[in-house]
Amino acid sequence: MRLLALTLVLAVAACGGDGGARATDGGSGDDAARARDGGAGDGAAIDAAIVPVDAPAPVATVTVTPMLAPMIVTTEATLAAELRDAGGNLLRGRAIAWTSSDPARLSVSAAGVVHAFAVGGPIEVSATSEGAHGSVMISVVDGVITGITDIRSFLARCPTNDPAYAALRADFELRADGVPIAGDPPCTEPYSTVPIAQLTDELYVLQVLRIAYYMSPGTESHLPWTSLGLYPWLHTRVSGINLKAAPGQLYCCDQLDGRLFFAMSRQSDFSRDFKRDWPGLSGSLAFFAHEIRHADPGPGHVNGCPAFPQPSDPLGCDPSYDLANLGSYGVQYWLESSWANGSLYIGIPCAPPAVAQTYLANAVQEANSFINRFVTNAPPTATARRTYGGPCP
Ligand SMILES: [Zn+2]
Repeated sequence: MRLLALTLVLAVAACGGDGGARATDGGSGDDAARARDGGAGDGAAIDAAIVPVDAPAPVATVTVTPMLAPMIVTTEATLAAELRDAGGNLLRGRAIAWTSSDPARLSVSAAGVVHAFAVGGPIEVSATSEGAHGSVMISVVDGVITGITDIRSFLARCPTNDPAYAALRADFELRADGVPIAGDPPCTEPYSTVPIAQLTDELYVLQVLRIAYYMSPGTESHLPWTSLGLYPWLHTRVSGINLKAAPGQLYCCDQLDGRLFFAMSRQSDFSRDFKRDWPGLSGSLAFFAHEIRHADPGPGHVNGCPAFPQPSDPLGCDPSYDLANLGSYGVQYWLESSWANGSLYIGIPCAPPAVAQTYLANAVQEANSFINRFVTNAPPTATARRTYGGPCP
């Protein structure tokens, strides 16, 4: 509608002395165009006086949009085809035929809806109209669509306001040096800007657990170290988290009342301030997974990797990056690299571009910081990739 109205403005201006058209609308051509743009509907005389621009011109070019990022298998997206005549005018109402070069992997409907069935590609999806055609290349990649479709907006909510809050408290008991922590930590939304006094260890730990809860759907049978989903795996391995007043504590686990509690020191204001946004929270989730992997128990730590090569060095290495038996650093690398390449899809591409870039760069940096933690068979360098996991909410 807006494009058509713009065309009419130009046409009226070009006609200049078309007094008939002006008289009909009681003013200048601009007024007439404004009336039509606003949907006033008094445009019959204008339409009669000006030849419609999209009447008989043949289709000259077809442009398919959007250029899609690699699509995660099982997802759907809608493409559009923009048709123009030789003069560059937009054409509407013409028949369009859609085809896929590999419909077994990526089908396309008559309406331009593509469905990713199987990993492969790049696959060409073409739109043809009156002999002209345009196309896009789309790859289908492996991945898990989790329950988080837009991580950035997801993080605005306080964990205490979430419908899952009661489940989080029931599944993970919070303790302070062994003493149960009662009550709900105060939190004023948005979570990302709570005063530092509200951003307690209790609050950010609950936010990390909330992320795990919603990231879990779809992960069943897709995590290399367990057949469980992420959240059930975490909460069946430990009974809770024991916050320690003593500094420098991060281990699995304390035995309290005969049950296992993952132990960690209370954090400084400076460290907690970093837990407002995805980079800090995701690092904590990866660390939680590291420690809780010890409760499986996963392979123990050794030395002899590039980061700790000497027999006298701390035991800061995994024996191998073995997907059939991942150690704790392997779990961290796997999570961070999967966030970076979008195969654990949480809607990072739905954030504003600069934010998405920051999140991806952080995940790449974190993942690659673990590569020197393996004695043999270190994993490859992680890279960022913006995948398509469905429309942003
Ligand atoms: Zn460890």
